[in-house]
Amino acid sequence: MPTRREFLASTAAAATLASRTVADPRSSGAPMPAPAAGLGRPVVVSSANGIRGVKVAYDRIVRGTDCLDAIIAGVNIQELDADDQSVGVGGLPNADGVVQLDASCMHGPTKRAGSVGALEGIATPSLVAKAVMDYTDHIMLVGEGAKRFALAMGFKEQELLTEKTRQDWLRWKARLNKDDAWLDHDDDVAIKFTTGTINMNAVDARGDISSVTTTSGMAWKIPGRIGDSPVIGAGQYCDNTVGAAGSTGRGEANIKVCGGFLTVEFMRQGLAPEVAVLKTLERLVAMTETRLLRADGRPNFDIQFYALAKDGRYAAGTLYEGAQFAVCDERGARLEKCVHLYPRPSR
Ligand code: ASP
Repeated sequence: MPTRREFLASTAAAATLASRTVADPRSSGAPMPAPAAGLGRPVVVSSANGIRGVKVAYDRIVRGTDCLDAIIAGVNIQELDADDQSVGVGGLPNADGVVQLDASCMHGPTKRAGSVGALEGIATPSLVAKAVMDYTDHIMLVGEGAKRFALAMGFKEQELLTEKTRQDWLRWKARLNKDDAWLDHDDDVAIKFTTGTINMNAVDARGDISSVTTTSGMAWKIPGRIGDSPVIGAGQYCDNTVGAAGSTGRGEANIKVCGGFLTVEFMRQGLAPEVAVLKTLERLVAMTETRLLRADGRPNFDIQFYALAKDGRYAAGTLYEGAQFAVCDERGARLEKCVHLYPRPSR
């Protein structure tokens, strides 16, 4: 049974969404066109690697867990999975062979945010980002300070480099320069992918929204590099009156368009999530420097945006056809196709 306060909150939210256009006093931006339907329907959306996590998050939300706590439990699965080389333990390291993690989160109902960058030795940066949000007057902590904060909060330090990622790092290092003192081996083994991240967004039955993104960032990065994931408004963004959005892929491209924020702003203007993610991708292409464009004028990298509206509508978009994303609602957890700007390039 909902408490009296919860009941009043959900009735008030339903009444708000019933009118056609609503000036929400909590919103800092323009009035949001009322969504068609869907309030009362929890939905969790994430990058495809969150296929296990969306189910965990959804089940918790249905049982009444706060939506940010639920999605952080969802991304913790990848962070703690040593076989996942894109986040947390087992994430691919930087050029020095050190795993540096980035994460950020936003809690829609309380309008709070937290973030950590270049964090070493702690497996769950998403939880450290939430601790920054919960226990400090700051939003972002990085490097040594972020680690000291995490240790003070009781997080346990551990080696994040696994035997597998150490071998991958050595292989990458050996092949950097033919003339260096490292002998090249294993020439038939491809160098590992360089990106990988998990972004997860959720709306609960009351229409409360949250978002989180966590990553080991670009593999082999220059030590100290921070990507888009810990940048509020780029790696993820959430406005409880509109929706949430986040990203995976080349962070340097996303930071320049504040893609999480921009996607939410497009939804605030009344665009459907699938249109919002495509418009963000178009802006990103327009902001791509020439050295990163192929002969046909299209980017030589890929990137995805995930969007979830307050009424439960959702979508994800990718530059090149073929990417999928994970979703869980009353129909269960599944992968769906991202909308795309371009067909997959032929090799
Ligand atoms: N966006 C991440 C970063 O640039 C990487 C990724 O999503 O694969 O750090």
